[in-house]
Amino acid sequence: MPKDNTVIKSILRNRFFPGIIQIPVAIIFAFITYELFFGPADAHSNFGTALTWVLWWPLIPLIFLSFGRLWCAICPFATVSDYIQKIVGNNRPVPKFLKKYGIWIIDIFFILITWADHVFGIVESPRGSGVMMLIITTGVITAGAFYERRTWCRYLCFLGGVAGNYSRCGALALRATPEKCAKCTTLACYNGGKKAPGCPLFEVPRTMDDSARCNLCGHCVKNCPNDSITISTRIPSKELWFISKPKFEESFLAIIIMGIVFVQNITMLQVWGRGQHMLESLLGTSDPAITFTVTFAVAMAIPVLMLFAASWAG
Ligand code: SF4
Ligand code: SF4
Repeated sequence: MPKDNTVIKSILRNRFFPGIIQIPVAIIFAFITYELFFGPADAHSNFGTALTWVLWWPLIPLIFLSFGRLWCAICPFATVSDYIQKIVGNNRPVPKFLKKYGIWIIDIFFILITWADHVFGIVESPRGSGVMMLIITTGVITAGAFYERRTWCRYLCFLGGVAGNYSRCGALALRATPEKCAKCTTLACYNGGKKAPGCPLFEVPRTMDDSARCNLCGHCVKNCPNDSITISTRIPSKELWFISKPKFEESFLAIIIMGIVFVQNITMLQVWGRGQHMLESLLGTSDPAITFTVTFAVAMAIPVLMLFAASWAG
C-alpha cells in the first residue's frame, strides 16, 4: 500500500477546500472575460489575453504534472456549472450517447479549437478569445442546468480530456483502501454525505485504477466514514506503464497532440514558407487556410498511423 500523504489529505479534508480557491479564481476569470470583450482590441495591450495565453496556458501542463487534475477542482467553468446546477439544475442522468461518445466529442472539440486558432487567430484576438470563452460557458451552463454532477467536465470539456491524460502522469494518486471499502455499505464517496456532495466526476474510488478523472476535490475524503482514501506521491508518468484497459479514443487525443504541437511549431519557422509554396503548387491554391488544413490533417494522421503500426508490431 503506498504511503498516505497526511499533509495533502488534511488540505483535501478541510471544509473550506476547494471553495477558498474557487472563489478568487472565478473572480479573476470574470475580470479576464470582461477585459477580453471590453479591453483593448490589440492582444499585446490586453491584460485578459496576457493572463490567459501568456501566463495560464503555459502553466497548466506543469500544474497537471505536479497536481494531476487539480485544476478541474478550481476551474471557473466548473464553478459556474455548480452554481447553475444549484439554482436551476434538473439533475437528469447523463445520456448514454454522451457516456459512449463523449470522449470523441472532446477529441473533435480539441481539434477544432486548435485548428480555428491558427486559421482565425483566436490567441491573437482578445474578442476571438472572448467568443471562445462564451461558447464554452454556454456549454457549461446548458450541461449544469440539465444534467447531474459535472457532466460537462467529465464528458465534454476538451481541457478536461487533456487534463485527464496529463493526470495519469501526475505526481499525486488518490485511491481507496480495498479492505476498508469491502465492509462499506454507504458508498458515501460516490453518493455524497453531510460534509460534501458525491464525486462530481462520477468516480467510485474503490474501483479507480487510474487518475484520469479524479480532480482531487476531496469530497470523497470528507465523506468517507472509514477513512479509506489515501493520497500518495509517486514518480510522474509511473501510471502510464500500468494501464490495464487502454482505450483508443484516449490514446488518440494524446497522440494527435504530438502532431498538433509539431504543426504549430513548424508554421512559426522560416522553413514553413518554402513548404507552403510547394504545397500551394501541389494543391493548386494559395489559400493559407486550405494549405494549413491539409498540413494539420497530415500532421495528426502520421502519429496515429505510427500508433497503429506500433500496436500491430507489439
Ligand atoms: S471510499 Fe469510503 S465511502 Fe467509498 S466505498 Fe470505500 S469506505 Fe465506502
Ligand atoms: S474521486 Fe471524485 S470525489 Fe474523490 S477527490 Fe477524486 S474527483 Fe473528488
